[in-house]
Amino acid sequence: MIQSPLNLYGLDRSQLEAMFQERGLQAFRGRQLMKWLYHQELKDFSAMTDLPLNMRQWLTENCVLELPSVVERHISKDGTVKWILKVAQGDLVEMVVIPDKGRNTLCVSSQIGCTLDCSFCSTGKQGFNGNLTPADIVGQVLIANSYLAENDKSVTNVVLMGMGEPLMNFDAAITATNVMKDDHAFGLSKRRVTISTAGVVPAIRKLHEVTDVALAISLHAPTDDLRNELVPINRKYPIAELLQACREYIEFLGPARKLVIEYTLMRGINDQAEHAHQLAELLRDVRCKVNLIPFNPFPGSGYARPKSQDIRDFQTHMMRAGYVTMLRTTRGEDINAACGQLVGQVNDRTSRQRRYKNKLEAVQPQLIKVR
Ligand code: SAH
Repeated sequence: MIQSPLNLYGLDRSQLEAMFQERGLQAFRGRQLMKWLYHQELKDFSAMTDLPLNMRQWLTENCVLELPSVVERHISKDGTVKWILKVAQGDLVEMVVIPDKGRNTLCVSSQIGCTLDCSFCSTGKQGFNGNLTPADIVGQVLIANSYLAENDKSVTNVVLMGMGEPLMNFDAAITATNVMKDDHAFGLSKRRVTISTAGVVPAIRKLHEVTDVALAISLHAPTDDLRNELVPINRKYPIAELLQACREYIEFLGPARKLVIEYTLMRGINDQAEHAHQLAELLRDVRCKVNLIPFNPFPGSGYARPKSQDIRDFQTHMMRAGYVTMLRTTRGEDINAACGQLVGQVNDRTSRQRRYKNKLEAVQPQLIKVR
């Protein structure tokens, strides 16, 4: 089962424990190793002095600790930082750190491109060239932390809102978020790790079996007709089904937790009073807060950001209807680091015409792997 060489950044605690147990050692060795990797940030197995000597040797011969390589780093005038990273397959992906009031939120990519083809997202326009490994995702946190450490800071929140659809790379997303939450690794609270999805309903239904992280839904439309156009996976999993799966997950998380509804506002498309009204009605029995994201333009998108007054009116309407409604201020625009502007550089393996058909076929086999 263990492939050689094994990148240990891709294993969560239970997998590291199992690795030691398979070699006749006790599970707590896995926890010791994790602390060396993430608390001491040691890369030399031979210096992990509390591990048995023969184990250190085995680790040196069979395991590696590899990070994506940094190709470029851009720092915005508002403090947002974007990295372009090369992953093992040779493709480029992007990640962003957004500093805000003592928080440092890291937005990580989960796939090389995306198969979902949401009409207003530039990542989707790039096509798709595969999944990131768990180590590629964990590696993004390590790279961000080593940058922030220069100023005695660290990542406080992680959102899987970069390139890709995390729930189409389910096992890797879960393993990587396990490492983020683990006290022997990054030790982030379950409330500070958020998986964002365009609505892969069968995967949402499985989430409670494997995790308790926060969930954000990229809703963007209050009706199926409109959402079918903007977020084509809605044709397979319509809004009612999606919200039902979300209600069940939030129920599982408990009364103190809320779903995050993401709603990108596009001029004349979904930003009018009627849409706000419909959205408020739709979410009536969903425990949630709403994040409004003014559309971030990119060349050839065909959409525009709403008028400021329309954005304010939409927010006011939602707040009056009783929803905690945040307006996500656009960050890092001067370095193309804003939502939907992450494009990396992807060698698309599918033609645009074939892609939608392929990705619907891809949903089922992918989910068979879900535990
Ligand atoms: N596939 C996942 C993760 C990507 S998150 C998901 O859909 O949730 C990226 C977020 O930015 C999503 O809410 C997405 O809909 C939003 N987004 C994409 N393109 C955008 C754009 N051009 N302007 C503003 N938000 C955008």
